[in-house]
Formats: sequence, C-alpha cells, structure tokens
Amino acid sequence: MPPKGFAKLNCDEDTPALMKAALFSILCLLAVASPAPGANQPNFVVIFCDDLGYGDLSSFGHPTIKTPHLDVMAAEGQKWTNFYVAACVCTPSRAGLLTGRLPVRNGMCSDTRRVLFPDSSGGLPTTEITISSALKKEGYRTAAVGKWHLGHLPEFLPTSHGFESYFGIPYSNDMDMLRRESHFELAEKGDFSLYNVPLMEDEKILERPADQTTITRRYTEEAIRKINEFGDEPFFIYLAHSLPHIPLFRGKDFANTSTAGIYGDVIEEIDWSVGEIRNALDKAGVSENTLVVFTSDNGPWLKFKHHGGTAGMLRDGKGSTWEGGMREPTIMAWPGTMEPKIVHEMGATLDLLPTFVSLAGGTLPDDRTYDGHDLSRFITGEAKTGPRDEMFYYHGEQLFAVRKGQFKAHFKTKTSYTGQKNAETHDPPLLYHLGLDPGEQWDVAAENPGVLKEMQELAEKHEQGLERVPSHLVGKISD
Ligand code: MG
Repeated sequence: MPPKGFAKLNCDEDTPALMKAALFSILCLLAVASPAPGANQPNFVVIFCDDLGYGDLSSFGHPTIKTPHLDVMAAEGQKWTNFYVAACVCTPSRAGLLTGRLPVRNGMCSDTRRVLFPDSSGGLPTTEITISSALKKEGYRTAAVGKWHLGHLPEFLPTSHGFESYFGIPYSNDMDMLRRESHFELAEKGDFSLYNVPLMEDEKILERPADQTTITRRYTEEAIRKINEFGDEPFFIYLAHSLPHIPLFRGKDFANTSTAGIYGDVIEEIDWSVGEIRNALDKAGVSENTLVVFTSDNGPWLKFKHHGGTAGMLRDGKGSTWEGGMREPTIMAWPGTMEPKIVHEMGATLDLLPTFVSLAGGTLPDDRTYDGHDLSRFITGEAKTGPRDEMFYYHGEQLFAVRKGQFKAHFKTKTSYTGQKNAETHDPPLLYHLGLDPGEQWDVAAENPGVLKEMQELAEKHEQGLERVPSHLVGKISD
C-alpha cells in the first residue's frame, strides 16, 4: 500500500532525475513515519453483564462467589469503584452505553414501559451513532455477541447499528414465556424450554427456544472466533452476557460447583468466560493492544433473593436510583498501557464512546449532545484526575437524583420492585455524602443548605438544556 498522500503526487515525465530521487527519498521517509492503518488503534472488548450487583465479585468483596479471572484482571488493570450506568434497567442502560447519550435524548426510556418487550414496535433509531458505527468509520472490524435489547425488528438489530455480525438473543432471557411457572424451579431443573427466546445470527433465528444452559459458553466461543478472525485489524467486540438476569442457567461443568449456589455458578461461569477471552487475546498476540472493559447494565434484581445478586454495602438494586441500582463493579485492563490501580474517580458507561473514539484517533460528530466524557488521558496515565465530576440518575424519563463530587441529592426515590407504586418526592431533597456514607443511610441535607442549593441548581441547569424526544419504548406491533 502506498504511503498516505502518495496518490495525490504525480511525477511528471520531465522531472529531472535528481528531483525524482529526492521525491522518492521523501516518500520513503513518509512511509516509515506514517503508521499503517490500524497500527496505533487499540482494540476494544466490552464485556457487559446483565443485572450483576456491585458486590457480586470476590474482588469487590463477595465472600463466597469465586471470580479468580476477574480478580487477576483487576490486579493487573484498574478496578473502578465509582463507575455508573446510564439507567437502572436494561434497555435505557444499553442505549446509554452504545450512544454515549442519556436515554432521554434518544427516546430509549419510558415511565410506562421501562424496557422493550417482544411485542414492542420500537428500538434504537438508526439516526443514533453507536460505538460500533463510530469505530467502523475509523476502520474497525465489529461484532456484537449476546443480549441486545435495543429493538428486535430488523431495522433495530445490531447489523443496522454498525455491527458486521450478531450472535445472541434480541431481548431478555425471561421473555416470551409460554406458560407461567416458577423461575426458581425451572432454573434449578435446567429447564429452559418455557422461555421461547430466539437465538439469532445476524437477522435470522438460529434456534428457538435458545438453549440457555450452553449460552454463556457459546457467546464466549463466538467472541473468541471473532478475535481470531479479526487478527491484526483493529476491532470492537461487544459481548453482552444474558446472565445473571433471571432465569439462571449454567453449563454442566458449572452446575452445583459454587458455594454461593446457582447464582454463584452463573457468575463463576462468566468469570471463566473472561479468562478464556483474555487467553484468546494473548494467544492472538493482541492483548497489549486491547482495552478490555468489564461491567454490567444495572444493579442486582433483589426480589429474586438467592437467584439475584447483591449490591454489597450499596443501597437497593435494579430499578432504583439508589447507588445499588446504578453503580457497577467495573474492571478495565490494557496490559502495558494502563497503570494497575484502584480508581476512585467517577466514570460511566456513557464515557466509553467518547473514550474509544478518541483512542481510535477519531473525533465526535458535532451535530448532537454527548453526556459521556473522554477518559482516555486518565486511563492511560497522562492525566492525574478524571474528567467526570457529576452524575445524573434517571428513573424512566425523570431525573431522580444528581451527584456532584461526594454529594448526592435525591429529588425522588422509588424502591426497586417491592410494590411501591408511586415515587416519593422529597422537598427538600435528601442529601448524602457518598464518601462518608456510601450506603446512603444518613441524610445530611439540614447540615448542608449551601450544598443542597448547589445541587438543585445543577439539576435545574441540566434539565433546562435537555432536548427530549418522544419515547420509542411505548409502541406495540399490534398498534
Ligand atoms: Mg439488566
């Protein structure tokens, strides 16, 4: 391949030989100086769990679930203790990760239908730019593996959003149930037959119902196939596990092996998967050129008791804007580039798109508002502090809480999935100091009127500048 710019230069027949020689030398120098496409572009692998709690990994304090591969990844890389998701339930959280924008900006949240269902007619609009479509523009190869949940109709599937290929289930693993039976009993028996969820390859259904007892292994095999297929070309792999969202299913090698019961079995299989993927990157000789990010879409589904996870010392879980609903156990690794450490700075899945685009050498389009920050200088050690100092916590379409620094103000709260019908409004808002009180137990609003005022102003300013669009989650195919 000629060096960049070569095609634009023409050597005229009459150019003196000396000048031709000089021009040739310059072009040779340019060829050495200009990297081949992809040479300086890191690969990105995002491993995204479903409903994993902040306290579910041994490196995040779980006393009985064993996650040796993730623990090694945390020791070799960065363990983030203040990393957030864009929403406390599946669909909006995934939209936030892939677009770098709060779901209220692209219609991917709703107060009435909080996620997409098999009868939903909507999905992520193709006018949105995903991480995948942004990186494709920078010459990346791309693959989506696992749960999608951003629209199951062809125009919304991963292949319509910049992914070259897709292998996975289009929505949650508990949907399409043929007959209501106990999730607990079906999972313990390993009976997936009542969950008529399709397993898809690109836009085709491969299997229905998807065999969920082998699904973690098959996702892993597909991701490894892609790592080997892409080789030296820069790539982005989005591996979104369907689990540990209930119903819990695990492979036969993991059944009844964890001290923490079936939930532990499932997490330990995901941990095995992380080890396999990191081994595959090593074997392919690309691990030093690959940033791997491990996190989850929302907190643990607490109402499922021992089939749900734990948010550790954080309050509440999936479906709520308390910390347990939106702060996730997050680990990043990039051997040779990333300084190993425990990171207490704030980060969010919203930041991945700006960070990846920056590391890939691209720029963000200027025709839309982004809510993500570029973490690249911080994670590579060039900057000592991270760029994120605020977090906005949405419940459906409403702003429920705001964090700035160590303070968090709640304007509304709603406990997750416990039958509380309406959100409780707090006037004055509740105020917690997350440094002193990560479990959000002691309201310090009365002692900090100045901070409270600042938080209220921050929320007002944020809402004033927000361009909301109608929800895409409410329409039904039958409408
Ligand atoms: Mg989820």
